[in-house]
Amino acid sequence: MSRLCVWDELPAQTRVAGYLSRAVASDAVSHAYLFVGPTGSGKITAAKALACALFCDDGGCGSCPTCRRVLSGFHPDVHEVHPEGAATYVIQQIRDIIHDVHLKPVQARRKIYIVGEAERFDAPSANAFLKTLEEPPDNVVIILMTRSYDAVMPTIASRCQVVRFRPIPPSVAEALLVQRSGADTAQARAALAAAGGVVPRAEDLLGSPGRLAARDLALDTLKRLAVMDGYDILEAARELLAAAKAPLDEVKSVHSDELEEHRSLLGKQSSTKSLEDRQKRELTSREREGLSEIIGVTESWLRDCLVVSQGADALVGNTDVADALVEVAAVITPRAALTAISAAETARKRITYNVSPQLAIEAMLFDIQEVLRCPR
Ligand SMILES: [Zn+2]
Repeated sequence: MSRLCVWDELPAQTRVAGYLSRAVASDAVSHAYLFVGPTGSGKITAAKALACALFCDDGGCGSCPTCRRVLSGFHPDVHEVHPEGAATYVIQQIRDIIHDVHLKPVQARRKIYIVGEAERFDAPSANAFLKTLEEPPDNVVIILMTRSYDAVMPTIASRCQVVRFRPIPPSVAEALLVQRSGADTAQARAALAAAGGVVPRAEDLLGSPGRLAARDLALDTLKRLAVMDGYDILEAARELLAAAKAPLDEVKSVHSDELEEHRSLLGKQSSTKSLEDRQKRELTSREREGLSEIIGVTESWLRDCLVVSQGADALVGNTDVADALVEVAAVITPRAALTAISAAETARKRITYNVSPQLAIEAMLFDIQEVLRCPR
């Protein structure tokens, strides 16, 4: 689909888009922003739009090679960082950023750092970062993101220009996804349910046969879960993990194209180390996302059981499997459904805290099975 301009990607955040595009047009872009808004409100989309607007010769056309590289997450001068520590940013990550900001950009005139979950700076990592945040080199823009302004350390927040994002109503997200992906409403709604309401993530899901297959497997596992024995559950957890990893082949093929492009641009002898390091980090984060998506599908299926049990069928996310959950919904109590949902949340937390994914998924399936067998 042709894109006229990257700011059109934010139809539900016109105020933010107007504010940022005016900053670019009047050469008044701040060196540090704090984007505040709920999950799925378009913070990453806005950060990428800002990068396109700053890098692209046409002010952010969305379709030239530069814009496409930014939008697909492959531009060498756009760095996305997430906490690598169990609960916080680790000091080494901050040192790496501080070192990196002083290196020259590779292709663009500027470098952009997109720093996720700004609430996960603790005192030591915040202190290490303050000076850079306050006075980065002229060609650097740092964009921090958070769901909650109050959760961010004041020393960090006070050094940034704050930009607030409104929550996007589900119906608007759905319409946006239908328009962008060409999927029908039911597919769009199911993809959003799996992707935690985040439109670009849902759009990627719809375009990835591997991720769609992982979703189907997760739903099929839940359907059969009540009658599985212990061995079946261990096997199911293994299959789910394998399914979460399968779409990595799609990422690897993009990576090998990227390496080839790098070599043809800069010559066969040029160093590909930093590119390969980034690709390695990206594979790790995509793998984590795959697991998170399987847990997201599980949560959305359980939520569907809950809403159907309460007679609110119109709120079902996974409409394509709605028939299969009627039986569960007929007997499950809200309390039991919430217990099962919290088992999924626990699995998500465990994986964040580096518990083996196999163990985390197994424990989740056993806990949910217990609820499904005795849904009161
Ligand atoms: Zn462009």
